[in-house]
Amino acid sequence: MTTRRKLAAGNWKMNGTQAALAEISALNAAFPAPACDVIICPPAPFISAMAALKGVVKVGGQDCHANASGAHTGDVSAEILADAGATAVIVGHSERRADHGESDQTVNDKAQAAWRAGLLAIICVGEVEDERTAGNALSIVGGQLAGSIPDGATGENTVIAYEPVWAIGTGLVPTLKDIAEMHDFMRAELTTRFGADVANTIRFLYGGSVKPTNAAEIFAVSNVDGALVGGASLKAADFGGIIAAAANA
Ligand code: PEP
Repeated sequence: MTTRRKLAAGNWKMNGTQAALAEISALNAAFPAPACDVIICPPAPFISAMAALKGVVKVGGQDCHANASGAHTGDVSAEILADAGATAVIVGHSERRADHGESDQTVNDKAQAAWRAGLLAIICVGEVEDERTAGNALSIVGGQLAGSIPDGATGENTVIAYEPVWAIGTGLVPTLKDIAEMHDFMRAELTTRFGADVANTIRFLYGGSVKPTNAAEIFAVSNVDGALVGGASLKAADFGGIIAAAANA
């Protein structure tokens, strides 16, 4: 049986100041040897300072351009993120897909850029509310997986985050049965494409209103290997509760 080490990943989105680095120092102090991997993805200007803390909390970007460099004002490449000290990058977050019209192919290109720079690609997928209500959640996510994950994905270079869009920042969470159904489906899809030996090494995060209060039950769900956390990653007290829950799962 493949053992997948749990991962607690935080996405600060467009929040925080340099003073918020104290939250990372607090996490590093509280969890000198956590039983799960821990990554925080702050706004890009904070990456260097966060990486310089050199604790167990690893640092990631929230997005990257597909190109290594060039005339793309305001964008950040995977290579620049790596140079700043990042070890991972989120690609295909639903806010990027919605706000910037990112297609599965765009996400696929960005994931390949992450690999090129030696970063772990955290590839996000998830249905919107109407798609779930219509009974199409599995087929929508299946299509996103097929289009967004490049050939060559392994557990070393890729993590998948299932984030139902209607659960992000809303306090709404799917039933544990629905999370299990989706994560089992994703495992089956990747097994068909990559074979069991590879598919079983790829970690699946659940994301959408994860809190210290519901993390333990979510981490106990079939094929849930951790969480991608927005709001509850901003404060060490909250994220620490989620790290602790992952460690106990
Ligand atoms: C997210 O944006 O990835 C997310 C899961 O947000 P929240 O935890 O706030 O729902």
